[in-house]
Amino acid sequence: MNIILLGPPGAGKGTQAKRLEESRGLVQLSTGDMLRAEVQSGSPLGKEAKAVMEAGQLVSDELVIGIIANRIDQPDCKNGFILDGFPRTVAQAEALDAMLSDKGMQLHAVIEMEVDDAALTERITGRYTCAKCGQGYHDSFQKPAKEGICDKCGSTEFKRRADDNAETVTSRLAAYHDQTAPILPYYRDKGMLKKVDGMAEIDEVTRQIEAALG
Ligand code: ADP
Ligand code: ADP
Ligand code: ZN
Repeated sequence: MNIILLGPPGAGKGTQAKRLEESRGLVQLSTGDMLRAEVQSGSPLGKEAKAVMEAGQLVSDELVIGIIANRIDQPDCKNGFILDGFPRTVAQAEALDAMLSDKGMQLHAVIEMEVDDAALTERITGRYTCAKCGQGYHDSFQKPAKEGICDKCGSTEFKRRADDNAETVTSRLAAYHDQTAPILPYYRDKGMLKKVDGMAEIDEVTRQIEAALG
């Protein structure tokens, strides 16, 4: 099954995508993670994206569509994937439809994670991840069982994203409302949109997603 997790920055898409990878054997395709890897490697693509990402704006449709088109051709996507952070504009949603139909692939569901804007700043500014395995954490909402030690891999190194600060959150939320929210009616009209309460506790959100996927 191929699904989209849709929601504002900090809604919990990455957290839930990791759980679905484990429970359903799907692969998480996060355009944010892919772009950060490009920035890290200093590639021409990364150089193009860096300043835009740090300003909390969206990188060009052309660039992310190219990344996703290559990625879903990889063999590990055959068993199903979770799109996390893509599509983010109507043009991206249309390009996704075209590439899936070209490849004889189908989208099964679009899960909208609804979260109040007021909760997102705290989610984003408290977010950090394990530097070794990528497990996500939060200063208040999702701490490792033993302070300073990753639950998953035992690493003691963690990192925070350059764009996870209060100033950038404002632009990222504006980008979500202006450019991404218009894709909700696009999928609603196709009868594919399923809503979950992203304000609930992490385990409860997982239950709602599992129920929506059936
Ligand atoms: P979040 O998890 O907070 O929603 P992401 O990791 O998905 O953020 O994205 C981080 C940044 O990468 C975005 O602010 C944007 O600059 C860029 N980005 C990621 N995905 C896309 C996309 N599909 N289209 C355009 N820009 C994107
Ligand atoms: P997204 O990928 O949508 O940007 P994340 O999954 O990275 O969001 O979650 C943002 C932050 O909020 C992380 O630090 C995560 O641990 C925390 N978080 C995720 N889901 C919840 C939830 N339901 N309640 C409280 N905190 C959450
Ligand atoms: Zn780890």
